[in-house]
Amino acid sequence: MEQRELVIVGAGPAGMTAAIYGRRAGLDVLLLERGLTGGQVNLTEEIENWPGAPRVSGADLGNAFRDHALSLEAEIRVAEVKKVELRGEVKAIVTDKGEVEAEAVILAMGAVYRSLGCVGEEERVGRGVSYCAVCDGPLYEGEEIAVVGGGNSAVEEAVYLTGFASKVYLVHRRDEFRADRAAVSRALSNPKIVPVWDSVVEKIDGDGVVEKILIKNVKTGKLSSLPVTGVFIFVGQAPANGAFKDLVKATEEGWVLTDENMETSVEGIFAAGDARFKRLRQIVTAAADGAAAAMGASAYIKEQLHLRSALLEPESVTAFFYSGADADQARLTDEAEKIAREKGRDLLIIDGYKNARMTRKLGVSPPSVIELRKGAVVRATPVASAADVAKTLG
Ligand code: NAP
Repeated sequence: MEQRELVIVGAGPAGMTAAIYGRRAGLDVLLLERGLTGGQVNLTEEIENWPGAPRVSGADLGNAFRDHALSLEAEIRVAEVKKVELRGEVKAIVTDKGEVEAEAVILAMGAVYRSLGCVGEEERVGRGVSYCAVCDGPLYEGEEIAVVGGGNSAVEEAVYLTGFASKVYLVHRRDEFRADRAAVSRALSNPKIVPVWDSVVEKIDGDGVVEKILIKNVKTGKLSSLPVTGVFIFVGQAPANGAFKDLVKATEEGWVLTDENMETSVEGIFAAGDARFKRLRQIVTAAADGAAAAMGASAYIKEQLHLRSALLEPESVTAFFYSGADADQARLTDEAEKIAREKGRDLLIIDGYKNARMTRKLGVSPPSVIELRKGAVVRATPVASAADVAKTLG
């Protein structure tokens, strides 16, 4: 199986930032992407909240991320990841173009737009039902259309769609939008946008294509029909977690749980970007996640490589595990090194606080002297004083 240091799944802002940081940390980086690099930024016409660029097209920003990662010699490979799995300690990434083994993995697959689930929706996708304004907006020149949802996506895309459509009904289930104030005021001051409050879509109807939608006012229960030829649905997102659903801990909805280093419940597997459980899903937060995940992965890989070659691979090793967070243990370490020198013994010093993972894995509680044969602990002796160390080293 192909072996790589850092494999990143998904080339959106999170994945590409992780690739940039990973390469700058000196890692061998493979970035896997099934489609276009850039991820969801490609679906956004104009981005107004990427710091330093008051207005930038989504495609331009995505291309700039990709060029930056490529300039640092990250490898970007077009491949669809089917599964990320653990085989014992091995992290395996199964793709449609073969399998890759990684020292560390960053899951950055992002999120996908949710569907409404109403009658008539599924069968009219591509025939009037759309989840991408940039892709399909130009098809509705001079037509009347509806946008469903009340978040930033719905409100901003409704404004974008007024560039084509003659009228855009903005159908929202409450009487207040969730989107931020700037986006809302831009939408409500646009004469082509007609807000339809407190309403849900019951049915999308028409002869093959979309001709009208049936909506219900949730306060009055009244049903009415809107004559539209297109329905753009922006009712939130769901994590694109198909390839790693049962691998890492996640919320009930599937958003991946991580610590502040972006590490998941599985050591060496990190998550970054929209697939994570978090409050704010933005390009800037995805990029920040990517940076943190790459640095976490870099520390993990370096720790693993060092410990493997120094501790687990040699025929026989005697190691002194201490906690660097404890001043008394740090002093005892100096004494242990001195005793080992006097006795002509090789003693590997390991800070169990910094290398908590390996310390846990070996079942060591510092301060202890550990003897290993080919990676297996054959003797573990807790030590409390220089005399204990001297006795243990013989
Ligand atoms: P979102 O903020 O979660 O909003 C989803 C909207 O859909 C809500 O208004 C929700 O109504 C409505 N909704 C959910 N399920 C529904 C259903 N079954 N039927 C009808 N309506 C339903 O999702 P989003 O707009 O896709 O945005 C996702 C994230 O990306 C957010 O964090 C957003 O801020 C961010 N984003 C930011 C920008 C930007 O800053 N430029 C642009 C796009 C997206 P309720 O309000 O009643 O729950």
